[in-house]
This record gives sequence, C-alpha cells and structure tokens, in this order.
Amino acid sequence: MTDDDLPIKPATRLVQAGRRAEWTKGVVNVPVWRGSTVLYDNVAHMRATGAGDLHEKLFYGRKGLPTQWSLADALTSLEPGAEATFLYPSGVAAIAAALLSVLSPGDELLLVDSAYDPTRGLATGLLTRMGVTTRFYDPLVGAGIAELIGPATKAIFLESPGSLSFEVQDIPAIVEIAKARGITTILDNTWATPLFFPAIEKGVDLTVLACTKYVVGHSDAMLGSVTAAPSHWAALRDTSFQLGQVASPDDAYLGSRGLRTMGVRLAQHQQSALAIAKWLAEQPGVAQVLHPALPSCPGHDIFARDFLGSSGLFAFVLDGGNDAARTAMLDGLAHFGLGFSWGGYESLAIPADPHRYRSVTKRDFAGPLIRLQIGLEDTDDLIADLDRGLARFRAARG
Ligand SMILES: *Cc1c(COP(=O)(O)O)cnc(C)c1O
Repeated sequence: MTDDDLPIKPATRLVQAGRRAEWTKGVVNVPVWRGSTVLYDNVAHMRATGAGDLHEKLFYGRKGLPTQWSLADALTSLEPGAEATFLYPSGVAAIAAALLSVLSPGDELLLVDSAYDPTRGLATGLLTRMGVTTRFYDPLVGAGIAELIGPATKAIFLESPGSLSFEVQDIPAIVEIAKARGITTILDNTWATPLFFPAIEKGVDLTVLACTKYVVGHSDAMLGSVTAAPSHWAALRDTSFQLGQVASPDDAYLGSRGLRTMGVRLAQHQQSALAIAKWLAEQPGVAQVLHPALPSCPGHDIFARDFLGSSGLFAFVLDGGNDAARTAMLDGLAHFGLGFSWGGYESLAIPADPHRYRSVTKRDFAGPLIRLQIGLEDTDDLIADLDRGLARFRAARG
C-alpha cells in the first residue's frame, strides 16, 4: 500500500502512482534497477533480511527490485480493494500463475468459451496434464453459471468482452454466485483495464492484465500482471515465487512509462474506435459490428450497466464473401498493420475466426470477421483506408 488511500481521481493516480521517493531518489521516474545479487552490510543484515517478509524488500533479483515494485504498486492503486500485484514476463505467464495459484489435481475449472486462445491452450494442455478438468461455458450464461457448478468446481475464469467475438459477460451475477459457493473468480481484464472496469471492487478475486497491450502501449515490450484481492494475495505470491516468475526491470520500466499516458491514450482510442465502429455499421458490405458500446454486440446492455468506457479493439462481420474476399480488403490496407497483439499507438487489423476457438457456443456470422485495433492516427485517414478496403471486398465478393 502506498498513496492508495488519498481521495484522488484515476488521472491523477496514473501520474503519481508507484513513484515512492525511496525508489526515485529525486528524479521523476523510478530508474531501471538491474540486478541479481544484493549485497548486505554483514551476516546479521543478510540473515535479518531473509528471515522477514520479502515483499518489496531488497533480497535477490528474482524477488524483484524497485523498478518492478513501482509498477506493481501503481497497478494495485488503480484497483480499489486490492491487496497487491505481481508482474510476469507476459500476459500468458500471468494467466498461468493466476490459475496455478488456485487449482490442484482433481479440481474443475469453468472457462469462458470466448477466452483468448492461449488461455484455452493452457487449460487443455498443462492443466489437463495436472489432473484439472475444464468445462467451457457460454459467455452469455450470466446467472445460469450456477447450473454448471459441480462439487469439484474450484475456479471460474472470465474474459469480458470475449476475444475476437466481444460478448460482454455478466460479471456481477457470476461473482455473486461464485462468492456464495466459495469459488475463486479470475478475470482477464486486458480490454477494459482497471480504468474502465475496476474488477476487484466489483468482487473479482484475481484480475489479469496483458500489460503488453494498453499499459506498455507502444508495442515494444511483453509484460503481464495479476492483481489480487486480500484473500488471494498470499497464494498468488507464493505460487509466483515458486514458479520463479520475474519480469525484467527494463520491461517494467516501459510499463511504468506507458502507464503515465494510459488514461489519455485510452480516451482517444475510445473516441476513435467508436467513431469508426459507427461509420462501419452504416457501410454496404458490413453485416454486423461487434463493439461492446453498440447495441449490435451481444451483451451490450451489460456493458452499458457495468463499464466506465470502451477501448480501441473491436471486430466487424463482413456481409457474405469468403476468406479470399476478406483478404482482398486486408492486404491493401495502408494505415493498418497486419499483426497480432494490440493496445499500442498504431492501428492493426487481423482476419478473425472465432469459431475455430469455441467448443460450446457455435455462433453463425453472415460472413468472415475482421478485428481492428484503432490506434492514435487521424480517424479520417483510417476511415478512408477502410472505405477503399470495403470497395475491394465488395469487388472480390461479387
Ligand atoms: C494478448 C492477450 C493476452 C496475452 O498477453 P501476452 O502478453 O501476449 O502474453 C491475454 N489476454 C488477452 C485478452 C490478450 O489479448
């Protein structure tokens, strides 16, 4: 806990969080502390350090150094009600640590069917080998989750909105049922960030960010985090230490640097993405826009009730056509890079095929999907680019 208790607003917190004087030593940013060995004054000092709680204490590089602690503290302070945060070298490593801190052989995991594909891979791979069974559930299940819970159910993994198809989950309904049954909830909150969905305050036990996306914000580092409610911190910390997890100080520095502007970047991502989503909804060749802030997105009512804003990632469904027609649109885009990941300052597009990563919710779309990450370019330029792309799609579709 640092400056968490001051009654300040998120924008101010983003600027101030994690910048403890003992870590900055007078400059504005906490510098990059690179190190493995920590040198002690004498044997007594060495023993005393090792005997106590090692959280945010200089002990050995694997337990972190002030550069990592600063970002972890800052992320904790964005989540009212949270105890602490652990950093990881990627978002997937964060998801793995969160799951492993809760699950043991014989347990069952309920995993949302619209989860990020590598999260599914972890469940069907490593967790299966460990003797944990996974049951996939419909992202729109809401309070119906109660009927899926069995005696072995230990954790429910949520991701809202869902990867590629953007269904918004009824997180409060699921959390209420989970709490009553003593089941842990884990949320992949990468899309909304704590600025648009303060997950711990909403009752989630462990909230995951792929910091690679909006926290880093510049497509130049891999980083993940898990922020824990007080009841779940000790297990998360111990599991993460046992796994030997440590984020590099250079990447943590880039995460802290990105965090300072995350609020203004998200505000612009939100505004530009909404403008483009609304424009797309009117275009010939577009069957449906899957943006949580638009009524055409499944779960939109829940989004409007629970979220404080929307970010820059959404998808749209082409009206008919096949993969070749979709490719005709994507291959000629001038301002959208063709690449995975998102959350950076630059716009990206990918062909999205959610049906390949679903097992219990087969949805029928009118045509192929394209996922867009709307960056910080001028929206007029992006719209003109998409307009030319849709013309190519329509010509190829025939
Ligand atoms: C990218 C992503 C991740 C994984 O993050 P990495 O840093 O790439 O490992 C996890 N969840 C979601 C929703 C993502 O988009």
